[in-house]
Amino acid sequence: ITTYAGKKILVLGLAKSGTNAAKLLKRLGASVTVSDVQPLEKNQDAQELQAAGFKVILGEQTPALLDAGYDLMVKNPGIPYDVPVVKRALELKLPIISEMELTGEVAEAELVAVTGSNGKTTTTTMIQKMLDHDRQAGHAVYAGNIGVPASKVAQEVTADDTLVLEVSSFMLVGTTAFHPHIAVLTNIFSNHLDYHKTRANYVAAKMKITANQTADDYFVVNFDNPEWRELSKQSAAKVVPFSRLDNSQDGAYEADGDLYFRGEKIMAASDIKVPGDHNVENALAAIAVAKIKGVSTAAIVSVLKSFGGVRHRTQYVLEAEGRQYYNDSKATDMEATEMALKGFKAPVVLLAGGLDRGYTFEKLIPSFKAHVKAIVLFGQTAKLLEDTAKQAGIPTIKLVENAEAGVPVAYQLSDPGDIILLSPANASWDQYPNFEVRGDRFIKAVENLTGKQEEK
Ligand code: ADP
Repeated sequence: ITTYAGKKILVLGLAKSGTNAAKLLKRLGASVTVSDVQPLEKNQDAQELQAAGFKVILGEQTPALLDAGYDLMVKNPGIPYDVPVVKRALELKLPIISEMELTGEVAEAELVAVTGSNGKTTTTTMIQKMLDHDRQAGHAVYAGNIGVPASKVAQEVTADDTLVLEVSSFMLVGTTAFHPHIAVLTNIFSNHLDYHKTRANYVAAKMKITANQTADDYFVVNFDNPEWRELSKQSAAKVVPFSRLDNSQDGAYEADGDLYFRGEKIMAASDIKVPGDHNVENALAAIAVAKIKGVSTAAIVSVLKSFGGVRHRTQYVLEAEGRQYYNDSKATDMEATEMALKGFKAPVVLLAGGLDRGYTFEKLIPSFKAHVKAIVLFGQTAKLLEDTAKQAGIPTIKLVENAEAGVPVAYQLSDPGDIILLSPANASWDQYPNFEVRGDRFIKAVENLTGKQEEK
């Protein structure tokens, strides 16, 4: 274990993760300098750290920043490796780690780590809920890319706890000793090639999740793709597969609509509350982890039957007058909206539209045809989507001011048994500060219309 006491450490990039990493390092006795590009008046994190006595350097991050001489750099995962100051640090052979590496070294809890291109937050949340369900000692706590900085909870968790970490590929690049007892790989698609440059680099970053595992550990891997299956052979851990398509595997799998773990039937796939085949995959990954940890089948089933999804990600909001309302505000591209629509068997009244990025929506025609009975459009792309909806033969198309104004309109167009879904297929920035605000306003409008509260 690294000793941080007495070390001169530069934290590059603040925000939540850098700020918490700086505080953790100070508690560990390090001499910490922080650097961030945002000026003090706009930088609450910097103001807070300065008031707490940290050395704070703001403004452009040039190689000269390193002239003070440091023993270690803790780099915010969002900062690429090819900016001048990081390049210089590499030339100087200054060790560069991420907040995740630090957390792995400091936390006494057992570590479960989840990575992948998609499904990380959902899978991490399912695992945390299952592991926490009927525990005798300690808690299961989630952190990482999921909104709770890992370095914030690193010292709060005890040896009785399990720390379930959502780990991005960016965070993994900055690890060397990171060693989860159970690692999960949900899938690998071609994301983030701007940052990692090549797909090989991206895959290598993901595989760092298992790099330090030994035969006493577990690597839970999606076997529904030959590449991922092949990659699992690189792991020294016990590989536990999960699969929707191949029930000959010995881990978690689906067969004839039911979910199993090593021959034991767990539940019907249709009883999983969060909709869609992709969520069956996420559930299978979570089941594998829970079973490895000895969680009861009853607890697993109870979580999957009640967990309505992560906020803004095909999140079940409530049911009123036979209509089920879902908030998928996180769907900022066509693929996500397609995925959400595929998850529903009942007819959908869809609310969509948002920032115009210059693309058109033909790709959505098949899923519009298959799932959408009426559509309510808003934002810059409303007109473009109207054309697409016409091409798909959707009989009822309405244009409204924004997502919240669309809620009563969607209700008017719906019948009992229908799904009313916000899944915009566009970013929110033409009308909202971010997708969270868009989703929150949608939920508020649903609550106002129905007189009911969001289910949590
Ligand atoms: P992440 O944390 O990796 O971004 P989330 O769990 O937040 O993933 O899900 C984000 C979106 O990604 C979902 O709304 C859905 O459209 C899609 N998704 C979720 N799970 C999967 C999966 N297993 N495979 C493919 N896509 C998925």
